[in-house]
Amino acid sequence: PLMTTDYDTIAAISTAPGVGGISIVRISGSDAMKIAKKIYRGKDLDKVATDTINYGHIVDPANDDSRVDEVMVSVMRAPKTYTKEDIIEINCHGGIQVTNKVLQLVLRNGARMAEPGEFTKRAFLNGRIDLSQSEAVMDLIDAKTDEARKAALNQLDGNLSAAIRKMRQKIVDVLANVEVNIDYPEYDGAEVVTSKLMLDKAQEIKAEIEKLLATAQQGKVLRDGLNTAIVGRPNVGKSSLLNRLLHEEKAIVTDVPGTTRDVLDEYVNVAGVPLHLIDTAGIRETEDKVEKIGVDRSRAAIKKADLVLLVLNSSEPLTDEDRQLLDLTRDSKRVILLNKTDLPMKLDIEKIKAEYGNSDMIKTSAMAENGTKTLEDTISQMFFTKGIASTQNSVMVTNARHISLLQQALDSVQTVIDGIGAGLPVDIVQIDLQSAWDDLGAITGDSYDDELMDQLFDQFCIGK
Ligand code: GDP
Ligand code: ZN
Repeated sequence: PLMTTDYDTIAAISTAPGVGGISIVRISGSDAMKIAKKIYRGKDLDKVATDTINYGHIVDPANDDSRVDEVMVSVMRAPKTYTKEDIIEINCHGGIQVTNKVLQLVLRNGARMAEPGEFTKRAFLNGRIDLSQSEAVMDLIDAKTDEARKAALNQLDGNLSAAIRKMRQKIVDVLANVEVNIDYPEYDGAEVVTSKLMLDKAQEIKAEIEKLLATAQQGKVLRDGLNTAIVGRPNVGKSSLLNRLLHEEKAIVTDVPGTTRDVLDEYVNVAGVPLHLIDTAGIRETEDKVEKIGVDRSRAAIKKADLVLLVLNSSEPLTDEDRQLLDLTRDSKRVILLNKTDLPMKLDIEKIKAEYGNSDMIKTSAMAENGTKTLEDTISQMFFTKGIASTQNSVMVTNARHISLLQQALDSVQTVIDGIGAGLPVDIVQIDLQSAWDDLGAITGDSYDDELMDQLFDQFCIGK
């Protein structure tokens, strides 16, 4: 692990922007105590125990110690803190003016405004967590369903890191053996022993990487959600079904900038799978009698979708528009929702199956409130072969960056196996083993570059 370095002292508002019951100004770095003492009046912070929270006031020393807010100040001394540095957290009354004023005082008295994710970056740079764990912090904050939260927490606990480190250790052992080989060329059997060892270990590592990659599809779905298009001709009940989904599921997640209601993205939790609904603008209004989601607009949504929910009105015979949509979605992962089943059935289901492929069909009725449970089961079986429950306690790869590094490492390990098979000398083959070692190290951040770091931590929110 890296040694703790003396970085400058940073500060930010760590709570969400806007008005709330309390808000927290966080300070981290070796000057955190000094800065706090300048602007806090209450107990002697040098004398309070670590990990305590202390009543007092924030004052403006440049203005006769005039009171700014009544606060609780948390004192957390290095090294057992989030960043491994001294941390002060000022719990203010959660008003915008109050919080900004406290932050300004902190900045004026010696701290620098933190960049997005900089506290977590410190935790990484100071060796408390590795890179994949830092990424897990962000995933935990962004988790869109409870299952996604569990997967992120599992990664934050270091389970992925441990699996990666184990593989890297195996590689190091083999490489050390190759060194011995080079140092003692007079020992005849060495080359044979080493290439056998290298082959065994490469095969073990290959199996382990493949096991991790096997979780990647599910993992990515959990983390990023499934782009889902709800299509169907006007009046089949798309809006009604959507509203059902949105109302029945308590865990609707919306990416809301600030505290405003302009929703950027809408997710609905279906059996732990976050469905990211595409193009809901056209289907949200239930009252619109004539809807203008033409086939063209549907075509665009279908193209972007990982999953298509095609709604048919089962109380009317198929129309040309239904047939067009059935055709368009032939190659999509598709669930056909036969809606309005509270009314007499007018569709020939067997005929549709024969003509348009054997996709999952579910009878629904937005009136009778049924069908959503079956929809959940169907979707979870489509994307989680063994059921989502089996993913809870095992290591899962969820992150596109990790997936591509694992893929690269797998390619290198395969090259090693092939090379030994072709009788290449170990000191040639070891080059690929070395590059697998590097790729695996990039996941945990044991090898990293500054550009990658900036990219990663820029995605964080301020104050984390
Ligand atoms: P959309 O145009 O596809 O979004 O369809 P809407 O959700 O706006 O529904 C069109 C009409 O059908 C509305 O009057 C709904 O109340 C009605 N409707 C929707 N689902 C059902 C259903 O399952 N059964 C019955 N009987 N009516 C439904
Ligand atoms: Zn609608």
